[in-house]
Amino acid sequence: MNTPRIFCIGRNYVAHIEELGHPNDGDCVVFMKPPSCLVAPGTPLRLPQDRGAVHHEAELVVQLSGGGRNIAEDQALDYVSGITLGLDLTLRDEQNRLRADGKPWELAKAFDQAAPMGELRGLSPDDNLGGFRFECTVNGGVRQQGHTAKMLFPVARIIHILSQTWALAAGDLIYTGTPEGVGPLVAGDEITLAGDGLGPFTWQIAK
Ligand code: ZN
Repeated sequence: MNTPRIFCIGRNYVAHIEELGHPNDGDCVVFMKPPSCLVAPGTPLRLPQDRGAVHHEAELVVQLSGGGRNIAEDQALDYVSGITLGLDLTLRDEQNRLRADGKPWELAKAFDQAAPMGELRGLSPDDNLGGFRFECTVNGGVRQQGHTAKMLFPVARIIHILSQTWALAAGDLIYTGTPEGVGPLVAGDEITLAGDGLGPFTWQIAK
């Protein structure tokens, strides 16, 4: 398997677009994180220091078995080999500054450990990627509740869109966007992701 690429989708849930005060212009945002962002459950998270708020973004993550270029939307789910939940950690103040300056987002999105990810499992016939619920709790309190039926761009369409630009390969990962409820993490927090048949996956924020 190739070293996985990590594709991330932004602006995929209306209520999250609204909570950040962005226009819904009908496009999703596509960006990438390097594999060095991945971190398994149970590993302490050492967040960047003195660079403003670090927000959790809980997301459904899918892994691909391949697919190549120009994947038709109605065949795209054939290439989903695994699913899990992950966090698209974001330096929110830094992202806002970069956005205002028209600069790329890597400094805010691609720092070390910026993509905690739970264990992948294979898809079962009972899984419905369009009707998948997941939850993010911090110190036991619910912060985010997601339902993939609310995605503006369903998983199959995301795969189709990405395949217009990249030859999708075995091992590629897609963070599919976050619902509303994003917020800051601070030292000592414990964050947990759980969903239909997934998790719980837990990380501690190092002090
Ligand atoms: Zn995100």
